[in-house]
Amino acid sequence: MKQIVAIDLHDFSPVNHNIEYLEDLRSHYPNLKITLFMAPFDQQSGKMESVLKHLKFAQYLSDNRDWIEIGIHGFTHQPEEMLRYTQEMVDKMLLATERLYKMLKDEKGINIRVVKGFCAPFWLRNQEVDKALKKRGYWIAINDNVNPEGLPFYKYNWSINEKFPTHLKIVRGHGHVQDVCGNGLVESFTSILDMPTDVEFKFASEVLQ
Ligand SMILES: [Zn+2]
Repeated sequence: MKQIVAIDLHDFSPVNHNIEYLEDLRSHYPNLKITLFMAPFDQQSGKMESVLKHLKFAQYLSDNRDWIEIGIHGFTHQPEEMLRYTQEMVDKMLLATERLYKMLKDEKGINIRVVKGFCAPFWLRNQEVDKALKKRGYWIAINDNVNPEGLPFYKYNWSINEKFPTHLKIVRGHGHVQDVCGNGLVESFTSILDMPTDVEFKFASEVLQ
């Protein structure tokens, strides 16, 4: 039976995307699907970046929605932001995020495959976050052994810089867009290319636990 493979990358943004490498990967694996976690109001560059400010980039994501899925990676990606938020604040920010993508779709015809999937920057979050996610019907990506109460989750079992696990039926890969934490896309390229070519790719949202 074919192995199922999902891969997620953190820190995707209009100014940190490595799209040329993603396309290179796709030329090796024409059926590639990938889930990219992006902060909707990303401030990692020191300026606020959003898809509204980068319409060509947004259009690219829309044009490539058959293989690119977008999840929510905190709101600004400031360290520990998800430790400070109350349930009400998370709820408001999720709503603002949903409106941002809806506005793109309704007013500009830019239809990004954005899913109700959330991952806290640096994996750091409080229980308030889970409550808000549950209320709004989100799933969560996690890295620990704690199953979030009542939330569907995606927990990776392959860091993309490690040897590809041929024994797993469902491989849930995880890395970063940029070379950080040892599992960046470019620095992990050789281990990713070790994947068999006949695997079946799924989005993270399709292999929830
Ligand atoms: Zn991150």
